[in-house]
Amino acid sequence: MTQPSFRIGTGFDIHPLKPGRPCVLGGVTIPSDVGPDGHSDADVLLHAAADAILGAAGLRDIGTLFPNTDPACKGMDSAVILRRAADEAARAGWSVGNLDVVVIAERPKLSAHVPAIRARVAEILGIDPSRVGVKATTNEGMDAVGQGRAVSVHAVCLLFRA
Ligand code: MG
Repeated sequence: MTQPSFRIGTGFDIHPLKPGRPCVLGGVTIPSDVGPDGHSDADVLLHAAADAILGAAGLRDIGTLFPNTDPACKGMDSAVILRRAADEAARAGWSVGNLDVVVIAERPKLSAHVPAIRARVAEILGIDPSRVGVKATTNEGMDAVGQGRAVSVHAVCLLFRA
């Protein structure tokens, strides 16, 4: 049976925003009086991206690879998680073609930080920044995200047969 040369995957994550937490998004620390709360560094963008890669490769999700009950994951740099996802995909014979994410947050404002986020995510994955899309939008004041109490990210990734 012929195997496809491409695979697509999707990822989603959401974390509450808490005062005093560092605001790490896409591996970049953004000046903000609130930041995503969680067991690791709570980098919601890298978590969604990692799940998109793992999903495309047909592998288990990051909650399986990095349980939030594992003390070793406490405060972990999520670059480790994204790199591990890409490494697991590579072990299964897949390389990252491109990655695209939508960050949904009322605060902080992200547009000025998009180039740095693209560059950092590309660096973690070892690909050109032109293969990383980062868009930021708001939830128009609706729900927890819209009230500035949470940040969510949708991600999609295309893998190709290495
Ligand atoms: Mg997460």
